[in-house]
Amino acid sequence: MAVIPEKPLRPLNKDPKNTWQGLTCWRMLDTQFALGERFFKTWQTWRADPQRSRLLHYVAFTQTPPSAPELSGAVSHDPTLAHLAQELASQWFGLLPGFHRFLLNQGQVVLTLCVGDTSNLLRQQQFEADAVALSVHDTETGSLWRIKALARCCRRGTRLSVRAPDVCDLSDVAQHLSQCGFAIETPTTAHPSPAPAMLEASFNPRWTLKNTRHMALEAAVPVGSCAVIGAGLAGASVAAALARRGWQVTVLDQAEAPAAGASGLPVGLVVPHVSADDCALSRLSRSGVCLMLQQARSLLVAGQDWAPTGVLERDIYGGHPTTQDIWHPQGAWLKPAQLVRAWLSQPGITFMGNSEVRQLRQRDGAWELLDAQAKVLCRAERVVLANAGGAVALLQRLLQDEPRRAPDFARLPAMHGMRGLLSWARHNNTSKAVFPPHPVNGSGSLVPRVPVDGGFAWFTGSSYQPDSQPERPDQDNHLGNWQHLQPLLPELADALQQPFESGELNSWKGTRCVTTDRLPAVGPLEASDASGLWICAGLGSRGLSFSVLCAELLAARWGLEPWPVEASLAKSLNALRH
Ligand SMILES: Cc1cc2nc3c(=O)[nH]c(=O)nc-3n(C[C@H](O)[C@H](O)[C@H](O)COP(=O)(O)OP(=O)(O)OC[C@H]3O[C@@H](n4cnc5c(N)ncnc54)[C@H](O)[C@@H]3O)c2cc1C
Repeated sequence: MAVIPEKPLRPLNKDPKNTWQGLTCWRMLDTQFALGERFFKTWQTWRADPQRSRLLHYVAFTQTPPSAPELSGAVSHDPTLAHLAQELASQWFGLLPGFHRFLLNQGQVVLTLCVGDTSNLLRQQQFEADAVALSVHDTETGSLWRIKALARCCRRGTRLSVRAPDVCDLSDVAQHLSQCGFAIETPTTAHPSPAPAMLEASFNPRWTLKNTRHMALEAAVPVGSCAVIGAGLAGASVAAALARRGWQVTVLDQAEAPAAGASGLPVGLVVPHVSADDCALSRLSRSGVCLMLQQARSLLVAGQDWAPTGVLERDIYGGHPTTQDIWHPQGAWLKPAQLVRAWLSQPGITFMGNSEVRQLRQRDGAWELLDAQAKVLCRAERVVLANAGGAVALLQRLLQDEPRRAPDFARLPAMHGMRGLLSWARHNNTSKAVFPPHPVNGSGSLVPRVPVDGGFAWFTGSSYQPDSQPERPDQDNHLGNWQHLQPLLPELADALQQPFESGELNSWKGTRCVTTDRLPAVGPLEASDASGLWICAGLGSRGLSFSVLCAELLAARWGLEPWPVEASLAKSLNALRH
């Protein structure tokens, strides 16, 4: 993909056993996931190799995903593989057409399952595979078009192994491969899959390769040091994704402790957005929710920090519920601050509290982050602004020093603050209110039972008011929350009328950072990524749905790794999208 300068070609690695050794990541593309056997074997081979790459990426294609029992059944004869299949099967749900990402093996094994038409989905890829397993079973799967689409996902030196049923004649496939720049090699034993390959090749075209991917970087960014400004869901998830790849990350926040902004929310809902036309927001939120649930499962205590209770979504129209309720079986409540702390405690991350960044400047090939007294707080090769609305002031300051950035910054979506107040109270034995067994959302939301300080509490909200307006009194916001609760759960709202009207409730207040199109902004702050200045902000009311997805996307772009969602969807998140 990257433009290769006209210099002597690097000799191809003839020893396929050593291919992933010592690398940051190894990227495998498999055109037929089938029941996952090849994936599980690759994962196991990688695990057993002490010299393995830090990350194993496996991108696999399927028209129809197998069921979770089929997945487990396919390798049940081998206890080691069965154990791996079990880990995947526990996350195996909602596999609609499109990309699905699974973070396995503490996030070190990353499976991207692409469901649908392989040729279309190959065009949505933005990475270069190190190894390709091509399954040929008919004229379509071995066609010139399919191989051209595959070649677009290869770098010089990518190894390809072709498998086909005995009856298949691979001479046409071999010709197509040669035509697309693959050098056919004598059959050898393929690695990492132990099955004998019918045809082996490596990508080594005689022509110069061009970057045909508009949003992909020219080359992977070498792993080094990064400063992340903001220790909320956005900053902490970015830090964790980078640290997993070996980056040394310093996370700075103006507050003393992490999650002091909107991510200090006592409890939030993890639930996808739904729309009749399944718009980009809906599809992205679906991907993001799956990733968030995986993180919750591996880092948090169920029942204490989060709970996969399922969430009932009520469609409220004109202040009344319609009959179109949606049950989200995977929906959950989650305490964001717990997750932020868990992410920040990963190896490779340093948290610096009481560190308000007022200015950014480049010195001697690195970024310096300065405080109000122009003292250098931190130096790093790259910077990610993950400080929500605080990013705007920093960018304005940078523009004063570097006005040449104005055309790039003008391409960012506008971001503004949206205040919110959440009403909550502890459950007590005297109340007659009957709460539902799971959260309900619609126009407003209710989380019925969350553990707090040795007891349980209910939460409902949240108000929504631009921070450009004078702040409404808390009691007005409580009453507004109660009015939203009425169509959602009329009987409960009636039973709770007294605490709402008397103002006996607790409140939690925060400000969301919202973009004009309600989608986060993730990406470089210049068209070329020349200086390594990125942003991950504007998570709006859906930080729990978007934070992991945005972090995965950012890290994937830095490392030329497979992206967690289709390129066409990722484009709508790109920071410089206007
Ligand atoms: C009332 C309310 C209810 C919500 N409910 C939900 C929900 O149910 N589900 C859901 O998914 N989302 C919900 N959200 C949204 C969610 O809380 C946010 O999307 C998310 O927390 C944003 O995370 P962030 O890291 O981008 O921002 P923040 O958490 O605000 O983090 C930004 C950090 O940057 C720091 N900072 C700012 N400027 C600087 C600087 N110059 N130097 C150093 N540090 C700086 C701040 O101190 C802060 O810690 C809700 C939000 C509110 C307000």
